[in-house]
Amino acid sequence: MSRATCLLKALACCLAVSSTASVCLGQVAKEATQLKERLATITRGSSSADRASSIASLLDLMKVEYKSESFEEDGKSGKNLIVDLGDESKPQLLIGAHFDQVKVGNGVVDNAGGCSLMLELIERFNAKPLENHCLRFVFFDLEEVGLLGSTAYVKSLTDESKPVGFINIDIFGYGDTLWMMSPSPESQLPASFSKACKASKLGIEVSPMKQYPPADHVPFVKADIATIAIALIDNAEIQLVKNVISGKRGEFPPILQTIHTPDDTMEKIDSTQCAKATPSVVEAIRIFDRTTANSDAAE
Ligand SMILES: [Zn+2]
Repeated sequence: MSRATCLLKALACCLAVSSTASVCLGQVAKEATQLKERLATITRGSSSADRASSIASLLDLMKVEYKSESFEEDGKSGKNLIVDLGDESKPQLLIGAHFDQVKVGNGVVDNAGGCSLMLELIERFNAKPLENHCLRFVFFDLEEVGLLGSTAYVKSLTDESKPVGFINIDIFGYGDTLWMMSPSPESQLPASFSKACKASKLGIEVSPMKQYPPADHVPFVKADIATIAIALIDNAEIQLVKNVISGKRGEFPPILQTIHTPDDTMEKIDSTQCAKATPSVVEAIRIFDRTTANSDAAE
C-alpha cells in the first residue's frame, strides 16, 4: 500500500470514528432533553393520582397500552400502573419503579427519575421486543408509606404469574455508577448487569440487601423471587450511604440530603448522566434474555 493510500485510509477511519461519536453525542443530548420533558410532566403534581395520570398521558403519547390495578394494603388504597410487552406465553421479566413521592420536594430523583427510565425502557423494548421473555413494567404506588404497592403486588402473584426475575429502579437522577443490590451477584440477572456495565464502562457497585437502602425490592426478595435493585449514584457517595445504613458516624451523603427533602427538585437532575447510563440497562436486559433462553433459571 502506498504512503498516500495509507494516509487516506487513516483519514477516512478518523472521520468515520468522529462522525459515529458525534452521532452518539447527538443521541445522548436528544434523550437527555426527552428525559427532562418527561420528568417535568411526571412532577407537575404531587399526589399519587396526579403522578399516575401524568405517566398514563406519557404512555398514551407513546401509544402503549396500560392497565391500572387497585389494591388495599395496610388500611390504605392505591393503584399500580401496569404495562405488558411481548408474547405473554414466554417467561416474564418484571421491572418496577414507584411513582409516589413524600410530602416535601417534587420527588424527582426519588423517583420520577426511575419512572422516566422505565418509560425509556418501554419505548425501546416496544420497538424491539426481547426474543425469549415477555416484559411487565409496574409503576408502584405508595412506596413511601411502607412499600404498599409492591407488597400488594407480590401478594397477588400466583405460580403462573410469578416472574422469573425482578428489577427495581429507585433513585435515578444523576451519578457515574450503577449501584446494584443483589442477594446473589453470580446469578444471571446481576451478572448480566455487571457484564453490560463493564462493556460500556459505566461504573457498577454490587451490595447485599443489608447494605442497601430498603425499597420495593424487599417484598420480592422475601417472596424468593430472583431480584435486583438498581440506582444511579455518584460512586463517592456509596460508602457514605452504607455508613449511614450501618449506623456509623461520618459525612452525610448528598443523596440523603436530597431525597425526602424540599431539595429533591429538577435542579438535582443530570439528564446527560442518566441518558448515558440508559443503554447499559437496556443491554443488561438483552444479555439476560439471551443467556437465559428457554430456561427459567434466573437464579
Ligand atoms: Zn424511592
